[in-house]
Amino acid sequence: MPLQFPAGFSQHIHHLPGIQEEKFLAALQLPAPISIRLNPEKKSAAFLDSNPVSWCEFGRYLPSRPDFTLDPLFHTGAYYVQEASSMSIWSALNDLVTDKKDLRVLDLCAAPGGKSTLVASWLAGNGLLVANEVIRGRAGILTDNLIRWGSANTIVSNNDPRQFGKLEAFFDVILVDAPCSGSGMFRKDPAAMDHWSEDAVVHCAARQERILTDVWPALKEGGLLLYSTCSYSEAEDERISKFAETALAAELLAIPSLEKIPGIVKTQAGYRFYPGEIQGEGFYLSALRKTSEAEAPYSKPAFRPVTVPASVAGWMAHPEHFLYSETHLGNSLIPIHLHESLPPLLKHLHILKCGVLAGEMKGKDFLPSHEMALSNLLHPEAPQLELDKNEALHYLKKEALPGRSDIRGWHRMNYMGLGLGWGNILPNRINNGLPKSWRILKELE
Ligand code: SAM
Repeated sequence: MPLQFPAGFSQHIHHLPGIQEEKFLAALQLPAPISIRLNPEKKSAAFLDSNPVSWCEFGRYLPSRPDFTLDPLFHTGAYYVQEASSMSIWSALNDLVTDKKDLRVLDLCAAPGGKSTLVASWLAGNGLLVANEVIRGRAGILTDNLIRWGSANTIVSNNDPRQFGKLEAFFDVILVDAPCSGSGMFRKDPAAMDHWSEDAVVHCAARQERILTDVWPALKEGGLLLYSTCSYSEAEDERISKFAETALAAELLAIPSLEKIPGIVKTQAGYRFYPGEIQGEGFYLSALRKTSEAEAPYSKPAFRPVTVPASVAGWMAHPEHFLYSETHLGNSLIPIHLHESLPPLLKHLHILKCGVLAGEMKGKDFLPSHEMALSNLLHPEAPQLELDKNEALHYLKKEALPGRSDIRGWHRMNYMGLGLGWGNILPNRINNGLPKSWRILKELE
């Protein structure tokens, strides 16, 4: 059925920067392209022949939509299902950040984690990513997606943008993928049309200004803020970037590699992605540099993590790259280079994930956490059992698997060499260690 746009939308898009209205409206009636982004840390043989997304080296278009829930590889974190236009953040980071080492990145509006997993891949183990989501009910899925992605240098927080004001001049890069009126998603998610109105655009624009103003103190002088929306409205796009230029003294930056891609529209303040011109959904991206002098850098409270104890280190490929610290979440493994960044975050933010949870002692034995199974921290010779697709799906439904007489004890359950979770192998069954909330509910075919 053709899309029926909400009242006022057709007039609203007249004269938008660079829009070719007829082509655009025709494209909205076509199916949205299906795209995924591969995890460079969890290489697999899947999707190698798929067409690449030109603005992100790990983005791929799929010819049709598979049932992702019933693909065990999805559950290993080998790829993330992401709309293609939003992967342009990759090009912006490549163009505008020269040194990733020790970089502190904040993804302020992060759930469910599309941009956060992208940034985690882009950082490739360097620096720190704080992925924040203000709405508690959406922070859980963000945490799970980052656990599945497996990067150890990530922290998840659940704070209002205002609370980042206390972390003065702390971050080198801030992403504000702002809550918006959502017109760019009409084709992919027609339900977005139910919430769209001219009033919603006005309401969102006011909130976007507030969010930028609240988080601005947390950016270092010379730091980069990437502002994006999935709205076509100038009030939420160019006007917000211009607001940052005048009210916050930001410098608007070009993103040269996006200018080389036919179809991406450069406007007075940013870059627009229109269906019909590019293979992706509606998106707006602009880059802002902080020019004003920042406050004195944050003074660092003491933080005394210890070296990783032998019981845990035995499970790890490189325990020497990590510190071990008791946090409110449990015993956490923290990349050594985050030693100085962590204390102010622990002091001022409500943290839901911090590095990688190590696990716990069960009697005399150390039992690694589910997060460990999905991270890349595990020693290559740690006990592991390869499952076929059918076994992997039954494991993901949290069912017991048939026992084994040749091996015993806790093993990581793998699919195509990548971890799904833990299982305790006994002669008559494998007890399933998948956390209950991670199980798939869908019936198997
Ligand atoms: N960046 C995410 C991704 O790529 O998967 C999508 C983010 S979505 C466009 C915007 C997010 O902002 C939502 O998760 C929403 O809950 C959050 N949000 C809503 N109100 C907010 C506010 N006042 N301040 C900050 N974030 C807010």
